[in-house]
Amino acid sequence: MYLRRVVVLVAFLLCSLATYSQEKLSVHWEELTASDFIKGMGDAHNTCALPIGILEKHGPHMPIGTDLLNVRYAALHAAEKEYVIVFPEYYFGQIFEARQEPGTIAYSLDLQLKLLQETVNEMARNGCKKIVIINGHGGNESLLPLFAQAQLATPKDFVVFVYGLPRLEVPGRPAKNDSVDMHAGSSETSHMMVTHPELLKMDKVNTESGRDQDRLKLPDSLYTGIWWYAKFPDHFSGDPSKATRALGEFDVNTWVNSIADAFKAVKGEQGDQAIRLQNEYFEKTIDPIKTKQ
Ligand SMILES: [Zn+2]
Repeated sequence: MYLRRVVVLVAFLLCSLATYSQEKLSVHWEELTASDFIKGMGDAHNTCALPIGILEKHGPHMPIGTDLLNVRYAALHAAEKEYVIVFPEYYFGQIFEARQEPGTIAYSLDLQLKLLQETVNEMARNGCKKIVIINGHGGNESLLPLFAQAQLATPKDFVVFVYGLPRLEVPGRPAKNDSVDMHAGSSETSHMMVTHPELLKMDKVNTESGRDQDRLKLPDSLYTGIWWYAKFPDHFSGDPSKATRALGEFDVNTWVNSIADAFKAVKGEQGDQAIRLQNEYFEKTIDPIKTKQ
């Protein structure tokens, strides 16, 4: 009888140990122990994600950190599907177009680039050889490709990939009937209904207008930084009253799956191919005279 109890106890302990060792690793960089971080880096095939948001007004009804909250929700859920290590909260992007609004944090361009470079350098020093920056904010859409291209300026042992704003117009998407919808409109509000419904103040949606005020009439061929303020001086664009939870669920699902696909590609053979090609390129830049013509 005693022996049987011992056998059962040992079996139980072994079983618990096995369960413990198979415990799923957190996708959050900051939640891993140092030894789990090493294991996670292996599981992630040296792939890490850096979701980037911003602090800016989001209409009269959504929080200042909406882009950060939404992009982190999408990136973290994608990482649960396709394991990568996700860097902590990062919101040091380009937002010079909303400095007139309360709560905007707009660091100088020099600092944005320097901080982002030092962040990816430090991530790479810790094993992230394939870094996917995931953008959640329209104002970063020019900055991040420039940053990725600038990585070729000097040799490095890691590759930066940029996953820009998601392409959500896919077959089956519920209609939204919001013709402007560029910032804090029906789409973003619908996303928030899924990611952080507790932070929405839907009773405030009609207290300001998000219509296009069209105050600068220039040919489409010209770009100027004040274009956005000319259209939307209240930093609000769209009609959030058209938001629906169905649209939010559809879009967030599309977004999460698309980021997970990107993680899978970067973790796999083509992610490694990007490193090989970048190394080949850096090798040739040392002595261009030797580059075969
Ligand atoms: Zn936004």
